[in-house]
Amino acid sequence: MYDVVIIGGGPGGYAAALYAHNFGLEVALVEKDILGGACLNRGCIPAKTWLHAADVFDTVRRAGDFGVVSSPPEINWQAALARKNDVVDRLVRGVTGLLKSRDVKIFDGFGRLVEAGVAVDCADGTSIVLEARNVVVATGAVPRSIPGYDFDGTRIISSNEALDWTEQPERVAIIGGGVIGCEFASLLSDFGSEVHVFEALDQLLSGIDPDAVKVLARTFRKKKVAIRTGVAVDPPMITDAGIIVPFGADSVEVDVVLVAVGRAPVVANMGLRAAGVKIERGFIVADLATMQTAVPNIYAVGDVVAGTPQLAHAGFAEGIAAITHIATGDTQPVDYRAIPVVVYSHPEIASVGLTQSEAEEAGYAVVASRHSMGGVGRALIQDKTNGMTKVIAEDGGSILGATIAGPAAGEMIHELMYAVAWESLPAEAAAYIHAHPTVAESVGETLLALAGRSLH
Ligand code: NAD
Repeated sequence: MYDVVIIGGGPGGYAAALYAHNFGLEVALVEKDILGGACLNRGCIPAKTWLHAADVFDTVRRAGDFGVVSSPPEINWQAALARKNDVVDRLVRGVTGLLKSRDVKIFDGFGRLVEAGVAVDCADGTSIVLEARNVVVATGAVPRSIPGYDFDGTRIISSNEALDWTEQPERVAIIGGGVIGCEFASLLSDFGSEVHVFEALDQLLSGIDPDAVKVLARTFRKKKVAIRTGVAVDPPMITDAGIIVPFGADSVEVDVVLVAVGRAPVVANMGLRAAGVKIERGFIVADLATMQTAVPNIYAVGDVVAGTPQLAHAGFAEGIAAITHIATGDTQPVDYRAIPVVVYSHPEIASVGLTQSEAEEAGYAVVASRHSMGGVGRALIQDKTNGMTKVIAEDGGSILGATIAGPAAGEMIHELMYAVAWESLPAEAAAYIHAHPTVAESVGETLLALAGRSLH
């Protein structure tokens, strides 16, 4: 009998398995595909490896601006793909080794709930039953599409296939200008592909502060990415020459359509409803203090959970919360107020806490301070002055949220994560000195201004 059987070996599931070691729990982990889940195999890690290659390409292209003489760069797509695969393989091997070193029993197959615990249907047609005191469902999410755009694996695809392109696509339509859409638009345009983005809402990256989105839109315009917001696309027409994507009275012809309109939770054929687990609009409903579902000894973590962000690091934290409750009966709830979100486009965008409009809608009297990267020495040194830092606070109260666009945004956001989580007053956060010259000085300047005593 296992203390915990975990279904799904992505960030939520493997974090739960690793963390359980701290309490000496007997753990089994069931995975039907490759350990590491979407994050390691089809998401965060491969996507950021491609984005890094695009950044290197762009840096070499601009080498002359820094007085460095080089030939115009060329992309060796196969070599970049091989490097992506190598990074993924190394991390998958690392996680597998770590799980084994912590005595987690790994089962290769499809897990489903049964009376005694979890049945594992193996590839060879056999099944075994793992008896369990507790189960953690960490089955994640998969790309979804829109009517008329059924995935065919080559011409109408999701990010899964795009990460494994064997050659550079020339003309790409991206449907959905969310995080995945913008990251692909960024890397493809850095490499010189023709990119069209279609976003149904009026803004790219909905939920991100519009001041930061403007920074990215400016770069996209410079790189000739065609951005169309507030548009609905009609079903495509596939011809010998390409794919025609119609919108309104207009259309564009491309070679491939990447659909990035969100990810659907994976809950099918696992006996969840029969076991009493409550599911709403496909997502598992869980008590966010403990991560218990409607069945007390069945927990859910990660992208499959209703109402929480689909982010690997949220999955890690939810795995920790579930295991803490299983092992000790105590709650260690995830602080969803202060989870950083990073969009790894060039320029990068990062955000934590509330945006100005969210804070205003929540009824706060908001004060905001915004500092451009234009005057930040290190940003100028790097020729990356297209950017800004913005911090918002309750008038007379604590810091509620922050957004950074520009170099190292995804790293710098973490100091503001603490400010939001610890409810720092602007003056408290502004009392500390940032090293000079750093890009992080933009945070220091923004905080000083928010505290009513700006310097530069
Ligand atoms: P998303 O929800 O971020 O964006 C989807 C976008 O598609 C939205 O802006 C939506 O308005 C738009 N859309 C929906 N239907 C449309 C239509 N018919 N036509 C045009 N636009 C349409 O989803 P995503 O980008 O697919 O990412 C999926 C999940 O994975 C998200 O939760 C995201 O946060 C997460 N993710 C995170 C990162 C990161 O943190 N860097 C990277 C990739 C994915």
